[in-house]
Amino acid sequence: PETGVVGADVRIPLVTGEHVDYANFDYAASAPCLVPVRRALEEALPYYASVHRGAGFHSQVSTEAYERARRSVARFVGARGDDAVVFVRGTTDALNLLARSVPDGCTVVVFSGEHHAALLPWQHRAGRAGRVVRLPLPASPAAAVDAARDALRTAPEGPRLLCVTAASNVTGELWPVEELTEVAHAAGARIAVDAAQLVPHRAFGLSSSGADYVALSGHKLYAPFGSGVLAGRTDWLRAAAPYLAGGGATANVTEDDVRWNDLPARHEAGSPNVLGAVALAAACDTLSAAGRDRLHEQEQRLLDRLRAGLAAIPGVHDLSLWGAGHPRVGIVSFVVDGLAADLVAAALSAEHGIGVRDGLFCAHLLTRRLLPPSHSQAVRASLGLGTTEEHVDRLVGAVAELAARGPRWTYGHVDGRIAP
Ligand code: PMP
Repeated sequence: PETGVVGADVRIPLVTGEHVDYANFDYAASAPCLVPVRRALEEALPYYASVHRGAGFHSQVSTEAYERARRSVARFVGARGDDAVVFVRGTTDALNLLARSVPDGCTVVVFSGEHHAALLPWQHRAGRAGRVVRLPLPASPAAAVDAARDALRTAPEGPRLLCVTAASNVTGELWPVEELTEVAHAAGARIAVDAAQLVPHRAFGLSSSGADYVALSGHKLYAPFGSGVLAGRTDWLRAAAPYLAGGGATANVTEDDVRWNDLPARHEAGSPNVLGAVALAAACDTLSAAGRDRLHEQEQRLLDRLRAGLAAIPGVHDLSLWGAGHPRVGIVSFVVDGLAADLVAAALSAEHGIGVRDGLFCAHLLTRRLLPPSHSQAVRASLGLGTTEEHVDRLVGAVAELAARGPRWTYGHVDGRIAP
């Protein structure tokens, strides 16, 4: 299968007026659409209609496409036969749905460096029932496992849930999900895995890992916006009030009563995003068929090249929680001595046609903890299927040039464009 991305040939203007190929290093924010995903969307487009509700031909085709997409996504996340696979808008939505579904009195354990999507939904809910335990950032993967074990064992009686990110969106570092799953289960707790940044790079399976829930976003997985998934155990989701009240979630409505649907429709009120589901499924199928290991090896070669290049530049510091040797997906956050992150990002874009992200990456606690005192924000370069060696070399060369330039320069907006 083709694993090329749409827009790989787009040329963009530099501040000099010259045009260059866009070097996209912002896959961790949103990945461009895969070519087979665009094809699947084009095929579905003439037929899209309301699913589950019409007898018309287009409704039948759309309903079949929507449920086929659910089966593809179920395979992709290695769902067990009795797991629910609920289409949502993305990882934020998935984890908010789960937070609304945990039983009353549930203790939720999280590490404080999580992406806000995995950190905040529990807190939001805890005002009503239950408790959130926030663990400090662990000094090593083994310390993470020990801290989770202690927190879950000493939690009050009742349901307990550990929520953890499989791959950090700031450092790309992999968390020890399988060991955390073991300690959660040994303590009689469940584990939810935020796989938003893992699944674009590596396979993750509910049944192979034993995890109870997984959340992911289509737009980080080479499908356009608006689709994601929460998959996992049915009992809490089935017992919970519908995430949204409305049509589709209802089995019967009378003057004085509402009978809600069973899963997954219970949590999919409103007209389903059939094209989003089709796109997400096409991305899942394409990545699986292309061979996750082969894609991973390609990416690691580029990642090694990027990290070695950045490490050789004086004044550039790569952020990492567990040290340079810890495995990670294709994400590198760094700072340059004497230069603010937004200045570096603006110069990379305007002078070199390189798109990176700067900021705290929706993981304020983690990023601030990793930053040297001289910096308040970082630059993040993230890789994906459209990344080439030329892009990596261009980025390394550009960062070296900016680092050597020293601190006394800036960018401003002139006539609506960025100028030195
Ligand atoms: N978790 C992680 C690790 C992420 O990187 C992101 C997106 N930056 C999210 C959750 C939230 O995903 P979404 O914005 O698609 O809801």
